[in-house]
Amino acid sequence: MSLGEFDLIGKYFTRDVRRARLGIGDDCALLAPAPGMQLAVSSDMLVEGRHFLSTVAPDRLGHMALAVNLSDLAACGAQPLAFTLALALPRADETFLEGFARGLFALADAQGIELVGGDTTQGPLTICITVIGELPPESALLRTGARVGDDLYVSGTVGDARLALEVFRGTHSLDAAPFEAVRAAMEQPQPRVTLGLGLRGLASSAIDVSDGLLGDLGHVLRRSGVGATVEVDAVPRSPVLAAQPADLQRECTLSGGDDYELIFTAAPGDAARVHAAGRAVGVPVTRIGRIEAGKALVLVDAAGRRIENHFGSFDHFRS
Ligand code: ADP
Ligand code: MG
Repeated sequence: MSLGEFDLIGKYFTRDVRRARLGIGDDCALLAPAPGMQLAVSSDMLVEGRHFLSTVAPDRLGHMALAVNLSDLAACGAQPLAFTLALALPRADETFLEGFARGLFALADAQGIELVGGDTTQGPLTICITVIGELPPESALLRTGARVGDDLYVSGTVGDARLALEVFRGTHSLDAAPFEAVRAAMEQPQPRVTLGLGLRGLASSAIDVSDGLLGDLGHVLRRSGVGATVEVDAVPRSPVLAAQPADLQRECTLSGGDDYELIFTAAPGDAARVHAAGRAVGVPVTRIGRIEAGKALVLVDAAGRRIENHFGSFDHFRS
């Protein structure tokens, strides 16, 4: 006998809630934000073959599905509270469910966020999570706040997820150890939640890198009505990526997506505070450019020479 819908929910996804007033089992979950706090809400959907490959281990998929959502809370500077999970599964495969739930709850527990509800249906493997966070009014990091003269930063390193994808696609090859390193970056991104919290009141704007650094930066520039100069050789990359051909490095760092690092801006006078905020949470932050007047996104190399911007970014309906 295969597992039924409600047994599946009960066995793999139902846990006691601490913070929420009511979790799984009724028609709605009930949440009470702390007095005076605003709620921050975001959804991200993962479709097999589109957002992840069928080769990903179930526990890593559980991690990834929650991580990409937490990354949106991080980019707003919100504290995670609760999430819902809408799941379409081809069949009730218990090996898959056990691994998926393990990876999901490991990250949920590490981030202090609890699963309060969802929906389960049969269908092509699709995972839609909605995260709910809280933050004080007027404190959210938004895409609209970049100002001319601000420094431009990125957290961690970018490009590994794209490098791993190129190996899966067969367009590039790596030895086993470096491949495992970039594969882990692709399959288990670390949402920068504590950094986002530390940047409240400090960063003038922020966004997380999901579709590619230049593409996501472009969203900030358009929404803020400003331009930018990016020093492409200053964009931080892992030792594995730094050992690859120069063209591939640029492609991966500038147009590769799925890094889930934060791009953010801050006033030049706050540079020391920005680096201190990164150190406080153990996440390196690197200055990669400057916000400029106008609308142009200008790329320069280490010698200050202009580089043509032919770097694309991911768009579901154009790729
Ligand atoms: P309804 O018919 O009212 O939509 P369901 O029968 O779909 O409720 O779900 C029963 C309960 O289980 C609800 O509390 C719902 O939030 C929860 N639930 C369903 N699927 C999931 C899931 N994948 N993860 C977490 N909770 C779930
Ligand atoms: Mg339902």
